[in-house]
Amino acid sequence: MSLNTDRVYSSYYEAMEEKVKTRYLEKLDILGEGVSDPYTFDVVESRSLSDMPSIEYPDIYNYLINTPSPYTKEELKSYKSLMGYKYLLAGWVSNISVHKILSENCDKLVVLARVRHSQSVSAPPLIPWIAAENNGTILCAHCTCMAGLGEACSHISALLFAAEAHTKLAQETSCTSESCKWLPPSMQKVKFAPISDIDFCAPVTKRRKLMKPLQPIKLSSISRSSIVPVSSPCKDEMAM
Ligand SMILES: [Zn+2]
Repeated sequence: MSLNTDRVYSSYYEAMEEKVKTRYLEKLDILGEGVSDPYTFDVVESRSLSDMPSIEYPDIYNYLINTPSPYTKEELKSYKSLMGYKYLLAGWVSNISVHKILSENCDKLVVLARVRHSQSVSAPPLIPWIAAENNGTILCAHCTCMAGLGEACSHISALLFAAEAHTKLAQETSCTSESCKWLPPSMQKVKFAPISDIDFCAPVTKRRKLMKPLQPIKLSSISRSSIVPVSSPCKDEMAM
């Protein structure tokens, strides 16, 4: 595989063994022609993660368990890496940043993060990256830990679960957190009224009454005694 001259490579790449470099270049090709090594991207805390791919649990399972290993060609079956979920819960994932890569066929996204080392708290954090499509399909991944070369370590898993948590949050935001999107208009003023005119029914009963279809009034149900005779209009009323 020839080196793409448009790409910018990180010092991390330069220090790799030749066999590892070959596979790393294959992954850069998946990102697109001329796309630089993600380790040259800025890893900064991103507050707006609106571009995060819509990764859901089946996408994570498909990737970590069912994807064929580039080395053995057998399914990764990395059940142990699913414990990366615990890393996320422990707050070990930070500095998440999303980078958009525009290509001819589809938009690809690269997500980077820092994940704390499980073996040593004082050791520098590991930096996994994942590449995915907008719809959550995971294309490939990498991590700076030794197991990360196998592309299914718990740090990659932790980053995937962070993306999944974001997807869930975004879905919940759409129906409950936007400015009263699903609520009826709020009451502006409460008017004074005699207690006999106030409806003390529970909201559920009020809604039931409101939704009840109107029944036509049967004239026969009105008693004759309730009919008040109407007098003829006076001269003033006629003039109006
Ligand atoms: Zn790792």
